[in-house]
Amino acid sequence: MKKFISLLIVAVLLVSCMATTALAAGATLTVSNETASAGETVTVSFSISEATFATYQVGLTYDSSVLTLKSIQQGAATQGLFSGGSKASAMNMADYTANGVLFTATFDVADTAPVGTYTVGAAVENFTMADAVTTLSVGVASGSVTVPEAPHVHDYTATVTEPTCEEKGYTTYTCSCGDSYKEDSVDALGHSYDKWVVTKAATCTEAGAETRTCSACGDVETAVIPAAGHSYTYTVNEDGTHTGVCSVCGDKVTAAHEYENNGYCVCGDLKAGTVTEKDEDLDDVPATGDITPMVTFGFVAVISMTAAAAYVLKRKTAK
Ligand SMILES: [Zn+2]
Ligand SMILES: [Zn+2]
Ligand SMILES: [Zn+2]
Ligand SMILES: [Zn+2]
Repeated sequence: MKKFISLLIVAVLLVSCMATTALAAGATLTVSNETASAGETVTVSFSISEATFATYQVGLTYDSSVLTLKSIQQGAATQGLFSGGSKASAMNMADYTANGVLFTATFDVADTAPVGTYTVGAAVENFTMADAVTTLSVGVASGSVTVPEAPHVHDYTATVTEPTCEEKGYTTYTCSCGDSYKEDSVDALGHSYDKWVVTKAATCTEAGAETRTCSACGDVETAVIPAAGHSYTYTVNEDGTHTGVCSVCGDKVTAAHEYENNGYCVCGDLKAGTVTEKDEDLDDVPATGDITPMVTFGFVAVISMTAAAAYVLKRKTAK
């Protein structure tokens, strides 16, 4: 009896081998391609399209130095009893047609995982029909987990540029990637000039010059000293002229009187008859009033003094 059973099993195995190729047609298993940074967790999907079977068992292949398998979860396309330890397996009492995610596998990506793409393979161990003897082959599939280049995070180094007399100061922040920006502006200091130094003295008729130097940057500022003009002292001559002698440079000028200032010449000579001419306005002093009488009074006083001066001058001239 035992011998008969053994022969039967061999026969069944032979049949199942023969059936494999035909029944596998059109069934494909795919593994997703995922991206995860070092230290992260990533979930990879294992999907099938239009395959009819009752049970399956799929092992996983992956680089265990980078990926650590945390768990395997049942997918929507799996029916029946599911088990997800280190392998994914499912058992259903009847054949069913699966189309979609059979299961997912979640991995921890090592903190030290180098940048690269790591293959995650599905090692198909069996896809079996409900008769328990017909095995489908859906091939070996592979997907991947890619650990990308970590995004660059700027790390800036500050370089301070001090302000000068005329230029603002600032701080330049530079990253090793070449990116940089300027911030923390500081106002220019302004020049620190020493005292003015006369480099060319002005004369009565010629302008002079003076300079001052910034003790910080050496900037030299130049200014013009205007000509002072002559400081004449006048002598009245008997022929209707006056002679002016400059007390600074000794320049000497003789000219006819010019009575431009209220009847006075620059030399102090008063035009003959100026004072005796009556100013009509001076007679009209109002009896009442505000400030006007006072102004008028002041004006009268000036005229009186002028008259007195003219008298003295005339006596002097006559001598
Ligand atoms: Zn950078
Ligand atoms: Zn300066
Ligand atoms: Zn002069
Ligand atoms: Zn004069």
